[in-house]
Amino acid sequence: MLLYTDVKKAIYQNVFAFPFCCGFGEANSERYEICMNGLETVCRLAQSLECPVQRDMPMAAYTSFRTGGPADVLLEPRKEEQLALLLRCCHEQGIQPVVLGNGSNVLVADAGLRGVVLRLAPGLDFLGEQGGVITCGAGVSLNRLCRFALEKGLTGLEFAFGIPGSAGGAAFMNAGAYGGEMKDVLVECTHLTQVGMPGSLRGEGLALGYRRSAYRENGCLITSLTLRLARGNPDAIRGKMEELIGRRKAKQPLEFPSAGSTFKRPEGYFAGALIEECGLKGRAVGGAQVSEKHAGFVINRGNATSADILALIRLVQDTVYQEKGVRLEPEVRLLGF
Ligand SMILES: Cc1cc2nc3c(=O)[nH]c(=O)nc-3n(C[C@H](O)[C@H](O)[C@H](O)COP(=O)(O)OP(=O)(O)OC[C@H]3O[C@@H](n4cnc5c(N)ncnc54)[C@H](O)[C@@H]3O)c2cc1C
Repeated sequence: MLLYTDVKKAIYQNVFAFPFCCGFGEANSERYEICMNGLETVCRLAQSLECPVQRDMPMAAYTSFRTGGPADVLLEPRKEEQLALLLRCCHEQGIQPVVLGNGSNVLVADAGLRGVVLRLAPGLDFLGEQGGVITCGAGVSLNRLCRFALEKGLTGLEFAFGIPGSAGGAAFMNAGAYGGEMKDVLVECTHLTQVGMPGSLRGEGLALGYRRSAYRENGCLITSLTLRLARGNPDAIRGKMEELIGRRKAKQPLEFPSAGSTFKRPEGYFAGALIEECGLKGRAVGGAQVSEKHAGFVINRGNATSADILALIRLVQDTVYQEKGVRLEPEVRLLGF
């Protein structure tokens, strides 16, 4: 009889190059044992810290695409101190964890994620305000953050209402919509390095640009954000938030799982318009489809695999390049491929 552990061992050794664990690319039993022992060490530490540990957890439950295979170990630290200790332990065990916020801009492979996933939302969820400056944990949802700003009569974050990410994910991506972006309001981020050391970046150091930040390069985990907002009229703020939600509902296929706009806006064009002009609206691969409502969104019609979604993304990229000469770059982050 083939045991589950044997199957898993075979998968580790032969199918995947185990991208999250240093030096595990080559297949041999010794490395496998070292790595599995490393995972156990991290899990034991998490348990002793009372940090929830989930094994073989399907990532479909944690991504807005509702696809993705199991993570070996999913940890949801609630406090920065827990996170720092877990990061250090992962580092010592040669494990490079995958970081997840609210999972609204990622596509996780059907084979899942090897090693450790650190899910920062909904933990790290403190919120405070003083003199128009809001400080929040990276795990706070953007919608909660926007409502908090409204409560305090602060304007500047209305653009973010309806973006289904965490504050940390929004800083990482420099999320933006309707003429606003995190860059307009973000003053500082605190973070932990991959070895669990605290640090921070502010102003120019955050290197915020179109859907990018310094955190895409430096591998640190954002733990908190400081945002500077202006005093505003609560009725006007609420009105703007309601207006923008209305526009989202009218234009976006919110009734289907997706990761929002699948592609970045190519300079001088709109991805959705290019895709539509190429006759790709409604085009499907398996359960994945270019939305009929908004061609910039690839949606999961209910039974899509991540492989379907990725195949459709590639098909759209190739067709648009052939017909329009424009290379579309995915905005969605691919994990485990
Ligand atoms: C219906 C819908 C509408 C959307 N509309 C918009 C929109 O208008 N504008 C827009 O910009 N985006 C939009 N998005 C995309 C998405 O919501 C944003 O990019 C959001 O900021 C991602 O946050 P998250 O917490 O879900 O990040 P995740 O998807 O969990 O992660 C995204 C990336 O950020 C990294 N990351 C997350 N948290 C941290 C952290 N604390 N520290 C370090 N790295 C981290 C992850 O490793 C990953 O690489 C939309 C998505 C959906 C489903």
